[in-house]
Amino acid sequence: MSELCLYNTLSRKKERFEPLDSELVRIYSCGPTVYSYQHIGNMRPYLFADLLKRTLLYNGYRVRHVINVTDVGHLTDDADSGEDKMELAARESGMDIWQVAEKYTALYKADLEKLRVLPPDVWCKATDHIPQQIEMIRVLEEKGFTYSTDDGIYFDVSKDPGYGRLARIDLSSLRAGERIDGVSQKRHSADFALWKFSPTEGAARQMEWQSPWGVGFPGWHIECSAMSQAHLGLPFDIHTGGVDHVPVHHVNEIAQSENCFDVRPCVRTWMHEEFITFEGVKISKSTGGLYTVGDLEQMGIEPLAFRFFLLGAHYRQQQMFTDNAVVQAQTAYRRLVRHALDLRASGDGNAAAPAGGFRDRFHAAINDDLNLPQALAVVWEMVRTPDLGPREKWALLRDFDRVLGLDLAEARIERGEIDAEIEVLIEERNRARANSDFARADEIRDQLEVQGILLEDSSRGTRWRRA
Ligand SMILES: [Zn+2]
Repeated sequence: MSELCLYNTLSRKKERFEPLDSELVRIYSCGPTVYSYQHIGNMRPYLFADLLKRTLLYNGYRVRHVINVTDVGHLTDDADSGEDKMELAARESGMDIWQVAEKYTALYKADLEKLRVLPPDVWCKATDHIPQQIEMIRVLEEKGFTYSTDDGIYFDVSKDPGYGRLARIDLSSLRAGERIDGVSQKRHSADFALWKFSPTEGAARQMEWQSPWGVGFPGWHIECSAMSQAHLGLPFDIHTGGVDHVPVHHVNEIAQSENCFDVRPCVRTWMHEEFITFEGVKISKSTGGLYTVGDLEQMGIEPLAFRFFLLGAHYRQQQMFTDNAVVQAQTAYRRLVRHALDLRASGDGNAAAPAGGFRDRFHAAINDDLNLPQALAVVWEMVRTPDLGPREKWALLRDFDRVLGLDLAEARIERGEIDAEIEVLIEERNRARANSDFARADEIRDQLEVQGILLEDSSRGTRWRRA
């Protein structure tokens, strides 16, 4: 059996994975800030965490997975100025802030379910862990890691010799005392807020708490340190998040957790997934491409076809989203479902027995730092090979689907839907032939043939039948 290897951002290497506890693997994934809809770029982190969890389960481990929900303290500006995203959303929508959190948390969870992301073992939210966050800040203060300014309590990065290791940050290259927008009292540009005071003038906050330092709210980074410690204990095995979390959020989490609890390293393996890009840039408000899973459905893209699209790129590579790419993914996904339907009809077999080494190769691919594109190539080769019978193939496909998560045992395609797709392809082939694009015409014929659809051209047009 192949060994599971995972890329660790901390060492910048693929490492053989060994859990701290021989059976139970503990994972923490940074969750969303629930102030708005989650667009598809925001869904990739959870798909990635899901594939990680499924791979661990496939390898026979038990997993305790925690995802948090950020419902306070995430500011519009990463340099500890700007507004709390939640407060802003509440004011703009006219809703109460708790309603905003509830509404977008529910929508986010519904999207995860549509994408067949296994629910985490623990959902937790920042506002349920205020005492733990205050206690951590108190300990850090007692140990001399903090200082106070007019607007909050800050972590002094110069007190932590290991600060920034995860991101290879060289503190001496960052100028101390650099003036930051609106936060001129910070001693060092990398210092960050642990606790922010409620404003004494201007807009009142809806969410605020008493603390030893006055009424206010916690900084964004301290919540993940407090919740991961509370639900997993330190150290734990794997922490996941987007690559954008490496230089600030995760570096700060490490500084807080390790110095508060004196556990080094607080996390053994840090894993980060790359962005989805839209026309070459990371999806964001300014670049467009802010589709939600619901928008894709309106465009006729099934959520599981979008999941299939995501499986097509390795998590450490940027993935380019275009309408065309996701439509193509849906075509391929439906082709796989068609195979599944045909194989399913032949009955159950035994996944352990089949020849051809497909199971070993699939396992080796996912164990090589979750190489899903490689694993999918094995899937296609397996469903097409003449060397296995349909019952063996179906047993293997169901086994692989424990990781793919495409729900192939339940999948169905309406016959009418398939027929309509065939008609569209035949029309496209006719246009290609009329334009003397015979390469494309042949490609479509071959594509249909793989699906068991045979074309017959005559003077009266093209007819098709199932082989
Ligand atoms: Zn986090």
